[in-house]
Amino acid sequence: MEALKLAGREEPSQHTIVKINSPKGPVLIGEGHCTIIAGPCAVENRDDYLMIAKALQEMGVHILRGGAFKPRTSPYSFMGLGLEGLKILAEARELTGLPVVTEVMDTRDIDLICNYADILQVGSRNMQNFRLLQEVGQIEKPVILKRGLSSTIEEWLLAAEYILSSGNQKLILCERGIRTFENYTRNTVDIGAVSVIKSLSHLPVIVDPSHATGRWEIVKPVAKAAVVAGADGLMVEVHPYPERALSDGKQSLTPNNFSRLWAEVKKLADVEGKRY
Ligand code: PEP
Ligand code: MN
Repeated sequence: MEALKLAGREEPSQHTIVKINSPKGPVLIGEGHCTIIAGPCAVENRDDYLMIAKALQEMGVHILRGGAFKPRTSPYSFMGLGLEGLKILAEARELTGLPVVTEVMDTRDIDLICNYADILQVGSRNMQNFRLLQEVGQIEKPVILKRGLSSTIEEWLLAAEYILSSGNQKLILCERGIRTFENYTRNTVDIGAVSVIKSLSHLPVIVDPSHATGRWEIVKPVAKAAVVAGADGLMVEVHPYPERALSDGKQSLTPNNFSRLWAEVKKLADVEGKRY
């Protein structure tokens, strides 16, 4: 593998734990923790978002998610509420005390998003948008870097290297499945990648079982597998009414189903000695 000057580990005990500041105190992501990020694919309207945010906070979720700028395959699909969505995220943060993560698609939006969100997500489609990587490498806030749609582990770690070498060490990797010949599921989850990352790099790695599968019925088993494989956390899509969702309804859990997932994941986190 090409030199991982900054993403590679120097010794087996080297682990980066990313600390996220929030109104209720810091949230940690990294070795020894099982950190849960949950929320709808996109922020669709204020009432639904604040309701789901509160419900998730009561279930013990650590971080809220919600897209305001959505990368959509078709230009005619719902693209997110933009600034209005960011304002709703900030309101949810005030209401719950939880940090919020949202996707940044364009270097021109970085400053704006930093005013509202606690963590910036670089999505799969932008994993090799090198200018975007360099620019989120210059901010103070933590970044989640999702694995590219068809990227190798090496390409993914070298993309991480762009962010680290630009100055930002608060970096979290997210496995979200890769494109293969299999099309029953939306993507093919690469569980082995979690343990490869853990052995090559000191960076935290989480798994997104929602985009990895595209089917809500198999989100829970994949989430459980990820935690046992060594993931430092999960990012799960939860929607109050999945059948009405404006994006990714088929892979979104209802709050009830999410609460079952979280209960089962916590038992595995106990077995693995991870805090939550
Ligand atoms: C998302 O998190 O909503 C998203 C678009 O994910 P990905 O970039 O993994 O497709
Ligand atoms: Mn989504």
